[in-house]
Amino acid sequence: MILDGRRVAQKVLDEVQAGVERLRAEVGVTPMLAVVLVGDFAPSKIYVANKKKAAEAVGVATRDYVYPAGLTQRELLTLLRTLNAEDDVHGILLQLPLVEGCDEDEAIATIAPEKDVDGLHPTNLGRLLAGAPTVVPCTAAGCLEILDHYGAKLEGAEAVVIGRSRLVGKPLAQLLLARHATVTTCHTRTRDLAAHARRADVLCVAAGRPHMITGDMVREGAWVIDVGINRLATGQLVGDVDFDAASKRAHAITPVPGGVGPMTIAMLLKNTLGAAQRQMLGGELRPPQSSPGRRRGQSPRPSP
Ligand code: NAD
Repeated sequence: MILDGRRVAQKVLDEVQAGVERLRAEVGVTPMLAVVLVGDFAPSKIYVANKKKAAEAVGVATRDYVYPAGLTQRELLTLLRTLNAEDDVHGILLQLPLVEGCDEDEAIATIAPEKDVDGLHPTNLGRLLAGAPTVVPCTAAGCLEILDHYGAKLEGAEAVVIGRSRLVGKPLAQLLLARHATVTTCHTRTRDLAAHARRADVLCVAAGRPHMITGDMVREGAWVIDVGINRLATGQLVGDVDFDAASKRAHAITPVPGGVGPMTIAMLLKNTLGAAQRQMLGGELRPPQSSPGRRRGQSPRPSP
């Protein structure tokens, strides 16, 4: 079975759109995502453009904060603190990687946890670890969404996650653990990766190594989630899994492209709606305080 990420992403986007319309009807508020882009990195510009387009399609408003590579760390933190205090900004998307000279960890930690739609703030990662997640990193959440949509049984399953990044591998392992899978996390220092992979009922691969998982490393009947996105010298986009060989053994597998990829933006917008709902309708998080003396919608810094 092919796990169609585009289809699942569309289902999530439809739900987000309905939620946006409900929020507007109930409290007259449109979720607003502040998009912060520093520097001139071409792929980041494309990612940001795609995210904005998807946001607009579901009715989430966006506001751009685009700065040249010369923005200092201090200026970036000032911008983020100002956005934290803006009542009408519900989510802050800080496009990574940042430019050289900017400290990503400090910047992420400066975003108010309730506006951290990427789920990377230490508070949000801590909540995930504590088993009480609020906002979950988008790609990891997208993998779970696919598995749930197609009815994968996770309880008691042997789940193997290859990759331990903060962005994907670690949060994904936590999500699987929370669903009562027995989770093994593999990484560059793992001895005999193939042996671990072969035991997996659910094999999630997020290493960024084209075709590192060969057919013989996939257990017969496994669910395979391929997070990797790699561009070969030929220009072809491939995953971390050898799809042709693995799909002969797997019960279910995500293709690349068209698998996990479309889920990331869908989950970002789901997180944005959730952030707006919690801030406007209450919940376990307190709404952000308004900043005295600042008009709604006023840009914190002149555009460069
Ligand atoms: P990363 O480089 O931060 O982390 C890669 C992880 O894989 C590391 O923990 C490393 O230990 C492990 N690893 C690398 N080579 C390995 C090997 N040979 N054996 C075992 N472990 C190995 O990358 P990331 O940000 O987690 O992304 C991983 C992949 O997922 C990349 O291809 C990236 O492009 C892709 N990605 C896709 C989406 C999406 O929307 N589908 C989102 C984020 C990342």
